[in-house]
Amino acid sequence: MTYTRGDLNLTDPDRGYVHFVLYAEPDKGAVSAINASISVEKRTPLAREWFDRLERIEPNALHTTLVSPGDISKLFHACVYEDKDSPAAVGGSGCTCFQTFYDPEFRLPVIGNHFRTVSGNIETWTYNTYAPLDLRPNDRFGSLIIDYRSSGSTDFWIRTTDGLLSFLPEQEGHGYGIGYGGGGPGALAQYVQQLIASDGQDTAAINNRSSQVDDRISSWAYSATNARSQELTLPDLRRILDC
Ligand SMILES: [Zn+2]
Repeated sequence: MTYTRGDLNLTDPDRGYVHFVLYAEPDKGAVSAINASISVEKRTPLAREWFDRLERIEPNALHTTLVSPGDISKLFHACVYEDKDSPAAVGGSGCTCFQTFYDPEFRLPVIGNHFRTVSGNIETWTYNTYAPLDLRPNDRFGSLIIDYRSSGSTDFWIRTTDGLLSFLPEQEGHGYGIGYGGGGPGALAQYVQQLIASDGQDTAAINNRSSQVDDRISSWAYSATNARSQELTLPDLRRILDC
């Protein structure tokens, strides 16, 4: 899909964060055209903090964009904890259900995918949603949080000056990373450069990946020694340029 920012008015002047554009084909269904998809497990305190503000709601059209077409009907099946005879139940105590939520702060759809073995010795919840394209108009950048797990899945968050947690704004297909030589750390370096250059004012997802990034910021993002959990305020980020 090709578009430029000037082609689409994606921002509601009052809300700022209403900017969903879907890409749809009759035989494939609809997916997000711009917002990056995010998958997070409720394992870290930050993920739990985010989860605790979600509101459970009935499935709607936006939730169907977060699952494959073959799984859409499963959005309507009860969890084994609510109905042990549900089509999502396995052997009366296992479960492969989906639950549907939304984030009332950023108004983003969220899907919870339950996996529970019949014995119950393995039980996980994985949450799929979209990253916002920017913070809301009155949100101010407070800190960048890298929630690192050695398993390789790292969550990237922003804490606003009001204490609100947001996924790092991200466009489809970019993906952030740290501690290796690849596109993920390159995207993170670009975002950090944008934050520093704008004094934390420009928090929008990067949509021009060709811009030059300072070598010191790239080195920081690619260095394995920085692949750890850390919370970085604007002065912390500026210190990268002192290295
Ligand atoms: Zn379930």
